[in-house]
Amino acid sequence: MSSASIKILGSGLCGSLLSIILAKRGYAVEIYESRSDPRKLSQAAGRSINLAMSSRGINALKYAGIFDQIKPLLIPMTGRMLHFKNGDKELQPYGQKEDEVIYSVSRFNLNQILIETAEKKYHVDINFEHSVKSYDPENAKIQMHSPKKEFFLEAQKILVADGAGSVIRKSFNDRAPIMPSESILPHSYKELTIPANDDGSFQLEKNALHVWPRGQFMLIALPNPAGDFTLTLFMPTMGKDSFAELSTDAAVTDFFDRHFASAVPLLPNLIHEFKNNPTGILGTVRCRHWHQDDKLLLIGDAAHALVPFHAQGMNFAFDDCVELDKVIGQHEHNWLEIFQNFEANQFDNATAIQEMALDNYIEMRDGVLDPKFALRKELSFELEKRLPNQFIPRYSMVMFHEKIPYAVSYQRGEIQKKLLAELTMDAEKLEEIDLNYAEKVVATKLAPL
Ligand SMILES: Cc1cc2nc3c(=O)[nH]c(=O)nc-3n(C[C@H](O)[C@H](O)[C@H](O)COP(=O)(O)OP(=O)(O)OC[C@H]3O[C@@H](n4cnc5c(N)ncnc54)[C@H](O)[C@@H]3O)c2cc1C
Repeated sequence: MSSASIKILGSGLCGSLLSIILAKRGYAVEIYESRSDPRKLSQAAGRSINLAMSSRGINALKYAGIFDQIKPLLIPMTGRMLHFKNGDKELQPYGQKEDEVIYSVSRFNLNQILIETAEKKYHVDINFEHSVKSYDPENAKIQMHSPKKEFFLEAQKILVADGAGSVIRKSFNDRAPIMPSESILPHSYKELTIPANDDGSFQLEKNALHVWPRGQFMLIALPNPAGDFTLTLFMPTMGKDSFAELSTDAAVTDFFDRHFASAVPLLPNLIHEFKNNPTGILGTVRCRHWHQDDKLLLIGDAAHALVPFHAQGMNFAFDDCVELDKVIGQHEHNWLEIFQNFEANQFDNATAIQEMALDNYIEMRDGVLDPKFALRKELSFELEKRLPNQFIPRYSMVMFHEKIPYAVSYQRGEIQKKLLAELTMDAEKLEEIDLNYAEKVVATKLAPL
């Protein structure tokens, strides 16, 4: 146990969970958060925004001893429900075992519970409406702003969890040791709502993540406990079929009628929401390093924000919290070693999941429309049945196997992708593939896990 103190910047998903884990270790934890206390607000801006949680996130919540409180919020999603342009629908299961599902969870409620637990149960001192204004890496002083005062924090053992737009990270632009870069995706997003039926029931199948794949763009919908769905449109920012083109009510109506006819009857507030809800940008944050000596460590999105198409940003940020706690246990009090080891353990994983998340956008909006996609998926499930320790579909490794690092999932996934393409090249159906031969090839290319 330690009686030392530690400061965290940001009480978002990463900062709030981290505070619980470190308080349990015995640290006196203090958080500075720019927003006001979410427990005093109703559902964020009247909208429910949700996230998909999978095994890495759940594992971290269990590690922190808080999963039982979060569990009632979770809605299982067993697969992708594809909505084709001709109105046909098809459910593609995510996995083939009963527990291979992902879960929709309200970001707002999740954050509220983490904050409440941190403060009430673990006595974390959370200073809301306290923003990082700037950071000068030379003299290691963080300038803070609150409604009552401006002050400086000494950068010493500071855990920086202020999200994708991190002020601290940006203060290192072009500067060692962090040397960050941001790649903005030329696609943006807008969140809309499919309301519940009058009796509170769901207008679409509740236990699925719905996708309307349309090549260059797509809609996705995740269920909320109140019977509504959060629907997100992802599409190019500029050019043909882009947000830039949807600048009038008529253009929005025409676009949805042409491309998403099956979704239109579910969207009574389409025009109002389209005009009033913000259009968000998406991007990938890469850094050369995540720490400055033993002064500060970037963690979660501040270190490695990624595009949301593998639904792993929060899951990875939660995994960071577990990993950091483990290295603290191994190198207690030596903060330079702690930060170095954390970076060494997670860095390749960040690069891997960032790539896989970008890949998955193409798969979700376009790849699933390839007639061979379903066959490759069927074959990968068959190979997993036959060689469960050697062939696990990449999606399953990322979403259901928290013990397989992202970097390993990525490397094995690349080999598997090639194998699946070769084995399905001349086949239309699974019966046309020589599965005994396929097994032998897999056995030569992939070592047991
Ligand atoms: C559209 C979309 C969908 C997503 N879907 C998923 C999903 O399905 N599954 C998944 O795992 N991930 C998803 N993500 C990613 C996920 O939201 C992030 O990875 C996760 O929130 C990262 O947690 P964090 O605590 O690092 O950052 P955040 O949750 O952004 O928290 C940062 C905190 O820092 C505070 N802060 C910011 N600036 C300052 C400052 N100057 N001073 C003090 N405090 C500050 C903020 O107010 C906030 O509370 C999605 C992201 C987007 C954009």
